[in-house]
Amino acid sequence: MAAFKVENINLWYDDNQALIDVSLDIPGNQVTAFIGPSGCGKSTLLRCFNRMNDLLPNTRIEGNIIMQDGREISDPSVDVVKLRTEVGMVFQSPNPFPMSVYDNVAYGLRCQGIKNKKQLNTTVEYSLRQAALWDEVKDSLQRNALKLSGGQQQRLCIARAIALEPNVLLMDEPTSALDPIATAKIEDLMQSLKRMYTIIIVTHSMSQAARISDQTAFFLLDRKSTRLNSSHITI
Ligand code: ADP
Repeated sequence: MAAFKVENINLWYDDNQALIDVSLDIPGNQVTAFIGPSGCGKSTLLRCFNRMNDLLPNTRIEGNIIMQDGREISDPSVDVVKLRTEVGMVFQSPNPFPMSVYDNVAYGLRCQGIKNKKQLNTTVEYSLRQAALWDEVKDSLQRNALKLSGGQQQRLCIARAIALEPNVLLMDEPTSALDPIATAKIEDLMQSLKRMYTIIIVTHSMSQAARISDQTAFFLLDRKSTRLNSSHITI
């Protein structure tokens, strides 16, 4: 079943049309990779899935993104705050908050008003385990997150998103700032995470898309439409 059905999306930043008639399905519990030349609209489309583009001024969008429950993503009945917890996002550069490992993962829950220590402990451990980071940080949960390696910081950001129980994880070039070993860990992690989450990743690496994705959407720069491959791309 599709996590999202994208139907004829057109998006403008002022007069610059960044997406033209983009249509594709994002299957649930799979990894979908977006690939294409710089500036072709990959990150723009990614930001449509949690309505982050709403935060940018002078952005206009036409078309539909149908969610799994059948609602269009811009429908007035959609609670944007809830949507952004259900559709978590991980950015290009790891961006942990300048606080402890524990507090980073607990942050979103505390924002939701959850104070129960036992509940926080359970969710922090669960999220760090899911992000394959628990064994490396379990003895130093109070350590400042900024002291972790870049790869550990990125897995911490994944744990922070997981703590909010998302259905979908959006990843915008999540390994571009990481060394090959840290990149391999994140790629392995994605394979285990897709059992529970739908993953959409922007990557500039054809070989990464081939390694990790179940399907790959190729974005074209000239007409900026997408073409969807039915299975892995092969290199
Ligand atoms: P990609 O992720 O494929 O590199 P982007 O989605 O970042 O492409 O950009 C697509 C187009 O939209 C580019 O022409 C870019 O300059 C423009 N763009 C992206 N973000 C913004 C923004 N916040 N404001 C104005 N234009 C933007």
